[in-house]
Amino acid sequence: MTESEQPPIPLALAHLPVVGGLVVPWITPRTPDSRYLLGTVDVDRMNACLQRRRCGVCGRDLVDRTVLLLRLSDLPRACTNEPGLHPVCAAYTIKACPMVGGRMTQYRRSPRLLGPEHSTGPDAQQRLGAPREPWFSVWVGSYDLIEADGNLAASYAKLGALRVRPINWLLPGLM
Ligand SMILES: [Zn+2]
Repeated sequence: MTESEQPPIPLALAHLPVVGGLVVPWITPRTPDSRYLLGTVDVDRMNACLQRRRCGVCGRDLVDRTVLLLRLSDLPRACTNEPGLHPVCAAYTIKACPMVGGRMTQYRRSPRLLGPEHSTGPDAQQRLGAPREPWFSVWVGSYDLIEADGNLAASYAKLGALRVRPINWLLPGLM
């Protein structure tokens, strides 16, 4: 992403570190030598966000409508392991994240070398080298905290969604 393509940083995210012109989300792990492992998550922070209903990008409380970002394969289960986001934080993520925004067509082929407290997500192994899936923004008034495949998840199966919108529905070959 060149400098001119970097989305403006919303005021709500001004408290977060910036690397290469992009905000580092609150759930991104930091190594002992102060590097940020963008594209991976700190499992403790991710679970804390889910449990305490905090935004995974800015780390602040979710008080009103919440946006869950789901991949196509998550939709039938109506849940995600990713913390909910404020609408402004979700809008920034869609612009800034190459995977969610659709500028990357496939997941990295080799696993990252991480410490035990870091993760690229519960299904990271299955995603290695896989084509990128379409993503959806799901607006909810609230979510239930459930356990899915041994991991915490935000579910709207019972409460329902306010709206479900495709972020990008184009197949990788057509982009
Ligand atoms: Zn936020």
